[in-house]
Amino acid sequence: MPPLLSFEFFPPKNENAATRLHEAAAALSAWNPRFISITCGADGSALEGTFAVVQALRASHPTLAVAPHLPMSRASRPTLRQSLQQYKQLGVRQVVAIRGDAPKIPTAAEGADFYPSTVEFVEDLAHGFGLQPIVAAYPDVHPLAQSPQQDLDHLRRKVEAGATAAITQFFFQAETFLRFRDTVRAAGIAIPLTPGIMPLHDLKQVLNFAKGCGTHIPDGFSEQFADAEKDPHGYFEQASRHTVALCDRLRLEGVDGFHFYTLNRSAMVQAICENLKLQPRKPVAG
Ligand code: FAD
Repeated sequence: MPPLLSFEFFPPKNENAATRLHEAAAALSAWNPRFISITCGADGSALEGTFAVVQALRASHPTLAVAPHLPMSRASRPTLRQSLQQYKQLGVRQVVAIRGDAPKIPTAAEGADFYPSTVEFVEDLAHGFGLQPIVAAYPDVHPLAQSPQQDLDHLRRKVEAGATAAITQFFFQAETFLRFRDTVRAAGIAIPLTPGIMPLHDLKQVLNFAKGCGTHIPDGFSEQFADAEKDPHGYFEQASRHTVALCDRLRLEGVDGFHFYTLNRSAMVQAICENLKLQPRKPVAG
């Protein structure tokens, strides 16, 4: 069976970027992903920005499932509930339910009604709205987790609250994901666990992301791409092959789905999908 694919995009900042995003989404939808997801950033209009992209994609690709990311720490419970209602009206079924890297969740005592944690948010999404919450998981352990066990217990609570699937933070070595999958399964957590795959679109940027989100960078990792700046074409080929090898190794170990962080660029993801020799799958309605 070919693996199930999903592609993540972020809301564009201007009209040119919006055109590029829609071109990338159209190009990648040819792979019949089970969904395309749209992140939600930290600025004040982030919820509206994500909603606008989801709305446009639902209109331009009615058979394509689109899953918005909703960071529960960035808005009050009534605001998030209103968003969920609007997404339901658009025909959205899955929501990537995450905390968001907010400085601090205000407490009810500070005068606003906020979800106390992702667990309660997931519970409301699943049971209050009948949506399918997809949650985040961390093969290299979340940098703010007190311990790997606390991270795992937290994932279990999100699953018990109604999460139907999890997508992982990106990682550099297949073994990191495979060990994590074994730990998750040994803990009795049975929901689909999809590896988040970060193509090496721009090595420096990816390494910076890794430092920010606690993804372990293996010794000598960047040295293997030493000629990247001198030979962009050669780098593209080498970086694509690197991700294909990672995905092939995961497939050999029974991994049957990949979530690609596209960073709104389709070229390298296209090359990776082609080299993985994937067959188009039937699209799933949203
Ligand atoms: P939780 O499930 O609440 O926590 C996960 C673990 O981290 C737990 O162990 C928890 O104890 C610990 N933890 C997390 N945050 C804190 C904190 N503030 N204080 C103490 N402990 C904490 N971010 C965005 O802003 N927008 C997005 O669209 C977005 N999409 C994402 C998609 C995926 C697939 C992934 C993996 C991450 C995404 N993120 C996004 C990043 C995410 O918001 C951060 O990783 C955030 O810090 C934790 O979110 P969570 O839902 O995993 O948190």
